[in-house]
Amino acid sequence: MSYVKEAFDRVKLRDPDQPEFHQAVWEVLETLEPVFDKHPEYKDANILERLTEPERIITFRVPWVDDNGNVQVNRGMRVEFNSAIGPYKGGLRFHPSVNLGIIKFLGFEQILKNALTTRPIGGGKGGSDFDPKGKSDMEVMRFCQSFMSELYRHIGANVDVPAGDIGVGGREIGYMFGQYKKLTGKWEGVLTGKGYGWGGSLIRPEATGYGQVYFLREMLASKGETIEGKTCAISGSGNVAQYCAQKVLSYGGKVITMSDSGGYIFDKDGIDESKLDWIMDLKNNRRGRIKEYVKEYPGAVYHEGKRPWGEVCDIALPSATQNEIEEKGATNLVKNGCMAISEGANMPTSPEAYTILSDAGVLFGPAKAANAGGVAVSALEMSQNAAFDEWTSEKVDSKLDHIMTGIHKQCADAAEEYNHKGNLVVGANIAGFIKVAEAMLDQGVV
Ligand code: NDP
Repeated sequence: MSYVKEAFDRVKLRDPDQPEFHQAVWEVLETLEPVFDKHPEYKDANILERLTEPERIITFRVPWVDDNGNVQVNRGMRVEFNSAIGPYKGGLRFHPSVNLGIIKFLGFEQILKNALTTRPIGGGKGGSDFDPKGKSDMEVMRFCQSFMSELYRHIGANVDVPAGDIGVGGREIGYMFGQYKKLTGKWEGVLTGKGYGWGGSLIRPEATGYGQVYFLREMLASKGETIEGKTCAISGSGNVAQYCAQKVLSYGGKVITMSDSGGYIFDKDGIDESKLDWIMDLKNNRRGRIKEYVKEYPGAVYHEGKRPWGEVCDIALPSATQNEIEEKGATNLVKNGCMAISEGANMPTSPEAYTILSDAGVLFGPAKAANAGGVAVSALEMSQNAAFDEWTSEKVDSKLDHIMTGIHKQCADAAEEYNHKGNLVVGANIAGFIKVAEAMLDQGVV
């Protein structure tokens, strides 16, 4: 049996009930065999087994009182996965589906993603099975305060710096930051995604979606193509999807779909800037459902309980959640002539779907490279906080563009060096892994 397969079997044996974590680990490990042939020292130091076991996992009770005076209890967790190249860094997800396997999958991906940004940040992730949907602002505040009442003792500006993810946006980061400050008496850059005016960086809200499109631009450029005039199907209508759509429009692309967990809308005339503004207000202020779009814009159609991958498009931009492109979606995308996918969500493409897309020659930007813009600008927020400085939008955006262009190059170069020219999945895994492995070797067995 091969070395990586043996290592993977040990991961499964140790935590048999974590399928998403297994999926994320195998997607990386299956591409690393040639790295161990070239670098036997990684095998000697047992880097793989150390990399797949988190340095620390914290789980805790989160009790809070709802608006009716009832005591509610959720579970909170933080996985501090790997600190070889910097403080743990990665978002917090509040969603009823959250469990340890999902947080470990996200934390594992984060290690390699953060390495690709070239910033000094390690990998971590956390969250809770709390569902912010349908809760009042005061309920969300009480939950966030209770969550931070435990988490604060495990994090710090140079220790572990959480950010947002599904269900955690500016509102939640604000409540958690306030509680951290109250408990510790310290104002420090302990969370990123903070509001502008109290330590937040300009372009942080935009960063993941913009970065996803910069990465797409680089992939297309490698084939002599551009975004202009291309039809794009986007899933999700949250933070990543909104700014992905905004950047596609700025490059002259046409956005035909957006979605939420209820279903998707198809607008044959395209979702232009003013329609997108309406969606942003719906989602960020009124906290409504995407199906309301068709009342406002009757030319569009709402498809309940469906995903947008059956629509004819040149480019697919999955920006909602994991495993949202499955075999059927991938088959439809290929049949309809889709030429490129840039992943905004984490692990949105199932392994079976990826095989179909890759066999058909669809250009594929994997999440750990294509959505690294969010954490890259989080690292820029940390730099600004540490220096008590504030940069202009132009400066942050140009750094983001530079970082995303660099990530694409790192992936393309690593793929070529290891005889997989053009395969950015292999390239991202190898480039990220080698950086972390080298740091772990230098630091000894810790
Ligand atoms: P948001 O909470 O802002 O938006 C999530 C969107 O995805 C919503 O439209 C939501 O719909 C939809 N969604 C969530 N779960 C499901 C589901 N099971 N099925 C269908 N749709 C679903 O989160 P973000 O935009 O921040 O995150 C989206 C993805 O991007 C996630 O995979 C996240 O890990 C990833 N990501 C985010 C980064 C960031 O900076 N925010 C950075 C890198 C990656 P509904 O409102 O109905 O739940």
